[in-house]
Amino acid sequence: MSVRFWEPGKEFLRIEEEVMTTMRGVLTAGDLIMRQQMLDFEHNLASFVGTSDAVGVSNCTDGMRLLLEAVGIGPGDEVITVSHTFMATMAVIHQVGATPVLVDVGDDYNMDTDKLEAAVTSRTKAIMPVHLNGRLVRMDRVIEVAKAHNLLVLEDTAQALGGSYMGVNGGGWGLAGAFSFYPAKLLGAYGDAGAVVTSDAGLAERLRELRDHGRVSKTGFSGWGWNCRLDNLQAAILDLKLKKVPEWITQRRRLAAIYDEELADVGAVKRPPGPDGGPFFDIYQNYVIEADRRDALAAHLASRGIETLVSPGPVPNHKQPVGLDHFHLPRTEALCASVLSLPLNNELGEDQVLEVAGAIKDFYA
Ligand SMILES: *Cc1c(COP(=O)(O)O)cnc(C)c1O
Repeated sequence: MSVRFWEPGKEFLRIEEEVMTTMRGVLTAGDLIMRQQMLDFEHNLASFVGTSDAVGVSNCTDGMRLLLEAVGIGPGDEVITVSHTFMATMAVIHQVGATPVLVDVGDDYNMDTDKLEAAVTSRTKAIMPVHLNGRLVRMDRVIEVAKAHNLLVLEDTAQALGGSYMGVNGGGWGLAGAFSFYPAKLLGAYGDAGAVVTSDAGLAERLRELRDHGRVSKTGFSGWGWNCRLDNLQAAILDLKLKKVPEWITQRRRLAAIYDEELADVGAVKRPPGPDGGPFFDIYQNYVIEADRRDALAAHLASRGIETLVSPGPVPNHKQPVGLDHFHLPRTEALCASVLSLPLNNELGEDQVLEVAGAIKDFYA
């Protein structure tokens, strides 16, 4: 492959010295489970997002599940979200015994907030907006609907670290937000990792108990809990990499602008919203186009050594065998047949973006 979709090995080699120094420090001190490095990362992540607390967890999926449990959502409750996301968003709602209620997405691939209010019933307890691809949902509208119906807002902000809308970061709008540090995310661990951010100190404390067996002291427990801790070694590495996130975001936005410019005249390609989107500050976790003859284009790019990704799709999440196929979501279903994520990662160069754009133009010429 001449242009890889993501390059975790290349990124490691560029920061190898710092990473190895950090790892050596953690390993020689024997600081393996919930030590100072994890507390430091939690503190720095909360400051970065603009919340009072961050709670490190094993991954974003566990974080969202603990969050639903912590706020008391369970059997009989409905939670509104989208199908156009990663499966985990819907799965956690199901796992706590509640029912996912799905709304369609709009032009920016995110929850169509005009369709939100119609999905509210007397059983609705929360809205889980998903900031897909690094762009925030119109959160002022979400908050408005939530206030009118007394609902909680819990953000799936797995793809939007550093992304903001009207000056407020993803994770800072609702009661809480869950981040993923899965390796392919903008801030990636060397394995699985996640965190939940909130400015509700009581909720943060409850999450800290739940992630560690319900433990409140060395020997005391507040009830049943889980083991969903963030590894201290991963936390130390994430803390180091967090400092590089602003630089990575700048680079991604620059590359997205080049894709935009290069693909502007290709009629068969619909580009994502641009980097200068008014109140939106998009961090481009993914650069996703809608493409005519998507599968043929992907095959053409592969033949040129360019890796792409279809996600979500080609089968929409609610059409997978998970008991949600009664939802009719025309925009989501159409998107799953046309979306294609182009290479965009922390190591990608301008010349590679030009190569990808050139290969797309050749295909449609
Ligand atoms: C990556 C992702 C998740 C899952 O995160 P994990 O850390 O792998 O559990 C959930 N939601 C969205 C939108 C994601 O992109």
